[in-house]
Amino acid sequence: MKKIGVFTSGGDAPGMNAGIRAITRTAIAKNVEIVGIIGGYSGIVDKKFQALNLRSVANIIQRGGTFLKTGRCLEFHKSDVRKLAIDNLRQEGIEGLVCVGGDGSFRGAHLLWQEHQFPITGIPGTIDNDIMGTDNTIGFDTAVNTALDAIDRVRDTAASHDRLFIVEVMGRNAGLIAAHVGVAGGAEIVFAPDLVTTVDQAVEKIKAGQAKGKSSSILVAAEGQKPGRSYDLAEQIRKKSGLDAKVCILGHIQRGGTPTAIDRILASRLGAAATEGLLNGEKDIMYGVQGEQIAKVPFEFATSQVKATPKDLMQLTSILAN
Ligand code: ADP
Repeated sequence: MKKIGVFTSGGDAPGMNAGIRAITRTAIAKNVEIVGIIGGYSGIVDKKFQALNLRSVANIIQRGGTFLKTGRCLEFHKSDVRKLAIDNLRQEGIEGLVCVGGDGSFRGAHLLWQEHQFPITGIPGTIDNDIMGTDNTIGFDTAVNTALDAIDRVRDTAASHDRLFIVEVMGRNAGLIAAHVGVAGGAEIVFAPDLVTTVDQAVEKIKAGQAKGKSSSILVAAEGQKPGRSYDLAEQIRKKSGLDAKVCILGHIQRGGTPTAIDRILASRLGAAATEGLLNGEKDIMYGVQGEQIAKVPFEFATSQVKATPKDLMQLTSILAN
């Protein structure tokens, strides 16, 4: 290949910039031209192409978000729009792509291989850590630390006022952020989208804590399908027990900020591997991490289901909240 493209797609995540930097500089080191596509799949459809050089990616490793912009392109679900995208890429002389995105982005990439044999490799960029075949996604560690910092602050006010708080974290259908934040933040109980925790169980746990002298409690709730659902939970807890639960929804602050060292290193390793892979003839795969190893994961497997919430972490939260 003489020329490849890079784009970010779907929800932004801290560490995406570090990934773009690694992809760009790896391509240039291999004497391959690299083009940045602005705004995800719509940038391909609208021909928003920008040549990148070594200096285009200077001073971005520490920045959250994505300087290539990202977006959701609903029309990409239509096959004629995907065909137009491929025509645009071929006209531009772009022979392959590296995609930094989440499961939706990889579904689109998989279709481009299936329908047009256009080679794409990917790296998982999403705070949700919901992608199969990789222990971690780029942005997850930063988001967990951001949520944790917020919980530590909430804890101060909860302790001062003897209050019960529900802190709602992001994750869409996945409970990975909630489960990790639950253990690290010393929560009483975690509500995850794929595991049943009832309001009765939560109330029982809070009351058991109070009987042992606890005066404040933190519950962590994953947003699930319904961001803001913590208000319903608080209302149900109040109805069942009379306990007044304050709600704190962390929302988009979890998506921003300086990426942690872990996310920068992950993005750098995976970005380099996905670019080398593409140039060596790989396609239709995501590069992820399994233990210490970089793993090649077919897009189809990576997007086959939402990664399950780790039950062991949920149990640990419950055992340690005593
Ligand atoms: P993420 O990649 O973070 O999961 P989305 O689910 O919003 O984010 O997907 C990002 C973009 O990928 C969508 O806006 C759309 O352009 C494209 N996409 C998602 N799913 C598909 C699909 N099934 N077919 C084609 N394109 C898709």
